[in-house]
Amino acid sequence: MSMKVFIGIGANLGDARATVGKAIGTLAQLPDTKLVAQSALFGSAPIDSSGDDYVNAVAELSTSLSATDLLQQLQAIELAHGRERPYRNAPRTLDLDLLLYGDEEINTADLQVPHPRMTERAFVLLPLLQLVADLHIPGKGRAQDYVAAVAEQRIHELTPT
Ligand code: AMP
Repeated sequence: MSMKVFIGIGANLGDARATVGKAIGTLAQLPDTKLVAQSALFGSAPIDSSGDDYVNAVAELSTSLSATDLLQQLQAIELAHGRERPYRNAPRTLDLDLLLYGDEEINTADLQVPHPRMTERAFVLLPLLQLVADLHIPGKGRAQDYVAAVAEQRIHELTPT
Protein backbone atom coordinates (compact mmCIF):
# COMPACT_ATOMS: atom_id res chain seq x y z
CA MET A 1 0.00 0.00 0.00
CA SER A 2 1.27 3.45 -0.82
CA MET A 3 1.63 5.96 1.97
CA LYS A 4 1.74 9.71 1.67
CA VAL A 5 4.81 10.90 3.54
CA PHE A 6 6.57 14.20 4.10
CA ILE A 7 10.31 14.58 4.57
CA GLY A 8 11.92 17.66 6.11
CA ILE A 9 15.28 18.52 4.55
CA GLY A 10 17.90 20.86 5.99
CA ALA A 11 21.53 21.67 5.19
CA ASN A 12 23.90 24.38 6.34
CA LEU A 13 27.43 23.41 5.35
CA GLY A 14 29.10 23.91 2.00
CA ASP A 15 26.79 24.53 -0.94
CA ALA A 16 23.62 23.95 1.07
CA ARG A 17 21.26 24.73 -1.81
CA ALA A 18 22.96 22.18 -4.03
CA THR A 19 22.89 19.62 -1.21
CA VAL A 20 19.14 20.05 -0.71
CA GLY A 21 18.55 19.77 -4.45
CA LYS A 22 20.61 16.59 -4.66
CA ALA A 23 18.86 15.13 -1.61
CA ILE A 24 15.47 15.64 -3.27
CA GLY A 25 16.79 13.92 -6.40
CA THR A 26 17.98 10.99 -4.28
CA LEU A 27 14.61 10.74 -2.47
CA ALA A 28 12.92 10.54 -5.87
CA GLN A 29 14.99 7.44 -6.65
CA LEU A 30 14.32 5.47 -3.48
CA PRO A 31 12.90 1.99 -4.11
CA ASP A 32 9.09 1.72 -4.28
CA THR A 33 8.87 5.49 -3.92
CA LYS A 34 7.73 8.43 -6.02
CA LEU A 35 8.42 12.11 -5.50
CA VAL A 36 5.00 13.78 -5.54
CA ALA A 37 5.88 17.40 -4.79
CA GLN A 38 8.56 19.63 -3.37
CA SER A 39 8.29 22.97 -1.62
CA ALA A 40 10.34 26.01 -2.49
CA LEU A 41 13.72 26.32 -0.81
CA PHE A 42 13.78 28.46 2.32
CA GLY A 43 16.64 30.12 4.18
CA SER A 44 16.39 30.01 7.98
CA ALA A 45 18.44 31.06 10.98
CA PRO A 46 19.93 28.13 12.94
CA ILE A 47 17.88 27.04 15.99
CA ASP A 48 19.82 25.36 18.85
CA SER A 49 22.74 25.20 16.47
CA SER A 50 25.52 27.31 15.05
CA GLY A 51 26.97 28.38 11.75
CA ASP A 52 25.47 29.69 8.56
CA ASP A 53 21.79 29.93 7.77
CA TYR A 54 20.15 26.67 6.88
CA VAL A 55 18.57 25.87 3.56
CA ASN A 56 15.32 23.96 4.12
CA ALA A 57 12.62 22.31 2.05
CA VAL A 58 9.93 19.68 2.41
CA ALA A 59 9.32 16.85 -0.04
CA GLU A 60 6.13 14.84 -0.40
CA LEU A 61 6.64 11.20 -1.33
CA SER A 62 4.36 8.31 -2.11
CA THR A 63 6.03 5.14 -0.88
CA SER A 64 5.33 1.53 -0.04
CA LEU A 65 8.42 1.38 2.21
CA SER A 66 7.67 0.89 5.89
CA ALA A 67 8.39 3.84 8.17
CA THR A 68 11.39 1.98 9.61
CA ASP A 69 12.81 1.17 6.18
CA LEU A 70 12.26 4.75 5.09
CA LEU A 71 14.12 6.07 8.16
CA GLN A 72 17.02 3.76 7.33
CA GLN A 73 17.08 5.06 3.78
CA LEU A 74 17.07 8.65 5.05
CA GLN A 75 19.99 7.90 7.35
CA ALA A 76 21.90 6.28 4.49
CA ILE A 77 21.38 9.40 2.37
CA GLU A 78 22.59 11.59 5.24
CA LEU A 79 25.71 9.45 5.55
CA ALA A 80 26.33 9.56 1.83
CA HIS A 81 26.38 13.34 2.12
CA GLY A 82 29.18 13.10 4.64
CA ARG A 83 27.26 14.09 7.68
CA GLU A 84 29.44 14.19 10.77
CA ARG A 85 28.16 14.78 14.27
CA PRO A 86 31.05 15.86 16.51
CA TYR A 87 28.56 17.13 19.10
CA ARG A 88 24.79 17.45 19.54
CA ASN A 89 23.21 19.91 17.11
CA ALA A 90 26.53 20.54 15.38
CA PRO A 91 26.18 22.04 11.90
CA ARG A 92 25.38 19.27 9.47
CA THR A 93 25.82 18.68 5.79
CA LEU A 94 22.36 17.22 5.47
CA ASP A 95 19.53 16.47 7.88
CA LEU A 96 16.51 14.44 6.79
CA ASP A 97 13.52 14.08 9.10
CA LEU A 98 10.52 11.86 8.62
CA LEU A 99 7.79 14.39 9.44
CA LEU A 100 4.60 12.51 8.60
CA TYR A 101 3.90 8.93 7.55
CA GLY A 102 0.30 8.86 6.36
CA ASP A 103 -1.86 9.56 9.37
CA GLU A 104 0.13 7.19 11.57
CA GLU A 105 1.42 7.96 15.03
CA ILE A 106 4.62 6.05 15.77
CA ASN A 107 6.45 6.09 19.08
CA THR A 108 9.42 3.74 19.24
CA ALA A 109 12.92 4.33 20.61
CA ASP A 110 14.26 5.08 17.12
CA LEU A 111 11.33 6.79 15.51
CA GLN A 112 8.69 9.28 16.54
CA VAL A 113 6.12 10.33 13.95
CA PRO A 114 4.76 12.96 13.58
CA HIS A 115 8.23 14.38 14.20
CA PRO A 116 7.94 15.71 17.78
CA ARG A 117 9.36 19.18 17.06
CA MET A 118 7.77 19.81 13.68
CA THR A 119 5.10 22.18 15.00
CA GLU A 120 7.71 24.37 16.72
CA ARG A 121 9.73 25.10 13.60
CA ALA A 122 8.91 27.66 10.95
CA PHE A 123 11.34 25.95 8.57
CA VAL A 124 9.12 22.85 8.66
CA LEU A 125 5.66 24.45 8.91
CA LEU A 126 6.02 27.01 6.12
CA PRO A 127 7.26 24.65 3.40
CA LEU A 128 4.78 22.00 4.52
CA LEU A 129 1.86 24.43 4.32
CA GLN A 130 3.01 25.43 0.85
CA LEU A 131 2.36 21.84 -0.20
CA VAL A 132 -0.84 21.24 1.79
CA ALA A 133 -2.55 24.43 2.98
CA ASP A 134 -5.14 22.59 5.09
CA LEU A 135 -2.74 20.00 6.53
CA HIS A 136 -3.87 18.09 9.61
CA ILE A 137 -1.14 16.67 11.86
CA PRO A 138 -2.15 13.44 13.64
CA GLY A 139 -2.47 14.06 17.38
CA LYS A 140 -1.75 17.77 16.98
CA GLY A 141 -4.48 19.29 14.82
CA ARG A 142 -4.27 21.89 12.07
CA ALA A 143 -0.71 22.79 11.01
CA GLN A 144 -1.86 26.35 10.30
CA ASP A 145 -2.73 26.81 13.98
CA TYR A 146 0.97 26.58 14.94
CA VAL A 147 2.22 29.28 12.57
CA ALA A 148 1.56 32.29 14.83
CA ALA A 149 3.77 30.81 17.56
CA VAL A 150 6.78 30.57 15.20
CA ALA A 151 6.34 34.02 13.65
CA GLU A 152 9.48 35.32 15.39
CA GLN A 153 11.73 32.76 13.69
CA ARG A 154 13.73 34.29 10.85
CA ILE A 155 12.93 32.55 7.58
CA HIS A 156 12.50 33.58 3.95
CA GLU A 157 11.72 31.86 0.71
CA LEU A 158 14.78 31.72 -1.55
CA THR A 159 14.41 32.92 -5.10
CA PRO A 160 15.11 30.19 -7.65
CA THR A 161 18.53 30.47 -9.29
P1 AMP B 1 18.74 14.24 14.28
O1 AMP B 1 20.14 14.33 14.73
O2 AMP B 1 17.87 15.34 14.78
O3 AMP B 1 18.60 14.03 12.80
O4 AMP B 1 18.15 12.93 14.95
C1 AMP B 1 18.50 11.67 14.49
C2 AMP B 1 17.91 10.65 15.45
O5 AMP B 1 16.53 10.90 15.64
C3 AMP B 1 18.04 9.23 14.93
O6 AMP B 1 18.65 8.47 15.94
C4 AMP B 1 16.61 8.75 14.71
O7 AMP B 1 16.45 7.41 15.11
C5 AMP B 1 15.81 9.68 15.59
N1 AMP B 1 14.46 9.96 15.11
C6 AMP B 1 13.33 9.79 15.82
N2 AMP B 1 12.26 10.14 15.13
C7 AMP B 1 12.69 10.57 13.91
C8 AMP B 1 12.02 11.07 12.75
N3 AMP B 1 10.69 11.19 12.69
N4 AMP B 1 12.80 11.42 11.68
C9 AMP B 1 14.16 11.30 11.74
N5 AMP B 1 14.84 10.85 12.81
C10 AMP B 1 14.12 10.46 13.90
